[in-house]
Amino acid sequence: MKFAKVLQQTLVEEDIPEEWVEAAIKYKSLKKCITKVVRELKFLGLEQNTLKFLLEDPNSEDGTKKIIEVDQHETLPNNPIIAEYTLTKSNDKSKPILPYLKITLNYDDDEYTDDHIHEVGLQLKHKIEMLLNNDDFADDDHEEPNTEQQVIEIKEEGDKLILSPQTTHSIPSRLGSPEPFELNNSKSLDKTITETKEPVPKQSKTNEIVIMLNSDTKFFQMLNKELESLDDLKSKEESNLISQVDSISHSVKSLSSPNVSLKKTDLYKWRELFKIYLDSEVYFKYNQTNSSASERNAEQIKKNLQEFVNRVTKSGITDQFKKKKSLAVFNQFISMNYHLLKVLQFQSINTEAFRKILKKFDKQTSLNVKNRFPKLINDDHVFFSGASLAQSICYIMQTSVLTLIPQLDDYTCPICTSVAFKPIKLSCGHVFCVRCLVKLKQQDKSNCPICRHENAVVKADSTNLDLKSMALMKTYFPLEVKEKLKERDKERYDEVVGKEKCIIM
Ligand SMILES: [Zn+2]
Ligand SMILES: [Zn+2]
Repeated sequence: MKFAKVLQQTLVEEDIPEEWVEAAIKYKSLKKCITKVVRELKFLGLEQNTLKFLLEDPNSEDGTKKIIEVDQHETLPNNPIIAEYTLTKSNDKSKPILPYLKITLNYDDDEYTDDHIHEVGLQLKHKIEMLLNNDDFADDDHEEPNTEQQVIEIKEEGDKLILSPQTTHSIPSRLGSPEPFELNNSKSLDKTITETKEPVPKQSKTNEIVIMLNSDTKFFQMLNKELESLDDLKSKEESNLISQVDSISHSVKSLSSPNVSLKKTDLYKWRELFKIYLDSEVYFKYNQTNSSASERNAEQIKKNLQEFVNRVTKSGITDQFKKKKSLAVFNQFISMNYHLLKVLQFQSINTEAFRKILKKFDKQTSLNVKNRFPKLINDDHVFFSGASLAQSICYIMQTSVLTLIPQLDDYTCPICTSVAFKPIKLSCGHVFCVRCLVKLKQQDKSNCPICRHENAVVKADSTNLDLKSMALMKTYFPLEVKEKLKERDKERYDEVVGKEKCIIM
């Protein structure tokens, strides 16, 4: 299926709000724009296959040339550069990106090792000279076209294309800033212009022509504008989500309060729900071995979210809420997650559209923008830069909602696997319940059973009691603590009774 159709279908199927669809990348219009760029290049005699030969490879930073293959004709373009395509940023809001195509028309025959390229270059020279000899160019400023750099613009007149002269000095002023940022500084257009203004020996003068296409400027302008609306949308939805998380946090805090009788709080219910949520790893896949997390794609998130809802439904927890409001807040929590999912889906389809349209541009023109354009504008758009929305929202959700209620896993004794009450913190930082520590001592163990820290067990005494987490356990795990104390009493009783039995026997 064609991507334009995939894009449209996704926007409908995922029930993307009208307002977002407005901000989406206009793939079809951009495609039409590319067709116009191709037409303008063809007008200059620069079909995609021709340009492929004449352009330098902008991706080669060390100056190495790539081998290109066109129509079974393989060549290593180590010849002087005939065509150069530059993208420049400008402060002019109406034309944020200025593309220029620079063509060298005069070159020494000896420099060319490849006959085919030489031939193509000559054809181009003839074509452009023919176009320039048109009546439109009977201009006094251009009496000696072979000694000056010319700037010409392609314009649309009715449904015909025409060439129209531009004066050289108009380029820097159009750039709008004294030091325009350019990707290829060593061969920057700006430098070329400065050079031509200086007195240069006649024989070294290169006859260059700078061509400003009409539709490529429009293409980048359109794309840039769409990225701006996507930026706005992202920021807006981000603050929207943050305020939702905020409100949920507020409600859960009061609904799960540990400071009231257990009959009046949903502390245990919310803990169970959050435990299922954390186990579902909806947005990130956590890697236990190197404690890193990788972000999931929208499709996987959708599946995980559905799975989470199913597990909650099956558990019946939401039917056992003590407070009516808990159910409403839980539904709010679910819908906030689905909202985030929708934003992520929208972001990912637009990122794909952006990538695809640039690829299409390159495929049809050979102008090589698919890496250069994103690099040029990356810092200007929050849509691409900065942390992902999933990351930032999940972080806020983690710190302001999920951590409201401590999970038992974080307060469990690694030996007896029940709540570590009363908690003894060894010098190495590992925590055990006091019963297990006493047993370790009775068994004459001296090192920490987890990390083998030397004499950590021997040295531990009543000063190692972690009062802070003991208070927390009492508050947040009242049932588990009660159970633990009961067990302790039973063990003590058994010990005493057992000893007495021994004595009697
Ligand atoms: Zn224990
Ligand atoms: Zn340890």
